[in-house]
Amino acid sequence: MSFEYHEPTSIADAVALGARFGEAGRFLAGGTDLIIQMRRGRVAPRHVLSLHRVTGLDRIEVDGAVRLGALVTHRAIEQCPHFQGPLGALVEGAEVIGGHQIRNVATVGGNIVNASPAADVVPVLLALNATVTCLGPDGERTLPLGGFLSGPGQTARRPGELLTSIRFDRLPPRSATAFLKAGRRKAMEIAVVCVAVRLTLDAARERCQEARIALGAVAPTTMRAGAAERALEGQPLTDEILRRAGRLAAGECAPIDDVRASARYRRLLVETLVPRALRRCLDRIGRAA
Ligand SMILES: Cc1cc2nc3c(=O)[nH]c(=O)nc-3n(C[C@H](O)[C@H](O)[C@H](O)COP(=O)(O)OP(=O)(O)OC[C@H]3O[C@@H](n4cnc5c(N)ncnc54)[C@H](O)[C@@H]3O)c2cc1C
Repeated sequence: MSFEYHEPTSIADAVALGARFGEAGRFLAGGTDLIIQMRRGRVAPRHVLSLHRVTGLDRIEVDGAVRLGALVTHRAIEQCPHFQGPLGALVEGAEVIGGHQIRNVATVGGNIVNASPAADVVPVLLALNATVTCLGPDGERTLPLGGFLSGPGQTARRPGELLTSIRFDRLPPRSATAFLKAGRRKAMEIAVVCVAVRLTLDAARERCQEARIALGAVAPTTMRAGAAERALEGQPLTDEILRRAGRLAAGECAPIDDVRASARYRRLLVETLVPRALRRCLDRIGRAA
């Protein structure tokens, strides 16, 4: 494993190095995916561009919207007071990533650019309709997260582009989020299936105004369960309607058999976890009333 190591100290320097090395360079954030992939010979960048000394990318800003710098760590998300209420799924996603040592250094930007279909924070951000902003030699561009993820380990990021931030709107009243993960062990385990849900009730609190359901580890990318979302919107959220959403989500995902679980078992998990996450949202909205 031989490469040149660079330590830019500003966003501008990082972008300039990214532009100079293009496909031959890789940004290094927490390194919890990249270093392992380099050791296993899956990637062999000739230039590693460390982001450790770049300032200004580790902030969480909350006003009308929420903006996460790409270098915000999972630990920082877990501890952020703004995410203790309706945005609690962000904490639920972040707190199950690896162990403490991993979460102290691993970043939200790395979780997105690594583009594992089983990533834990990505489904939560997808359910929140997040956008991602990249900066490269051709300037800045902002894309919906759903359009950014294009396959296992693949994104729409152009060679040398730096992911700088992730943005999503704050939730309207009568909203909640929930994240559930099924793995083979309780800790240090990549998801067998994960589910993130965002729910907003109508003014009378009787019907679903808006639902977003994102699924992990059941398709080549983290995916939205659009048919299940449509089946909820405008409906009273009875147990039967929630179970139907679970069945629809299980029908629209495309899991594979692998060493950790069969496709059939993954579909059963989706069918079970979607209504459970929706019920959790309903409880949370009820408790906040
Ligand atoms: C023991 C262990 C357990 C784990 N458990 C989980 C888990 O339970 N759930 C889970 O989702 N993940 C898990 N992971 C994976 C990993 O920790 C996360 O995906 C993490 O968020 C990656 O962030 P990072 O900062 O370490 O990324 P890095 O490894 O630094 O980078 C990952 C990729 O993103 C690119 N990149 C990083 N930042 C930027 C940027 N700002 N702009 C452009 N490109 C960038 C890098 O070039 C690289 O290709 C685990 C890893 C380990 C080692």
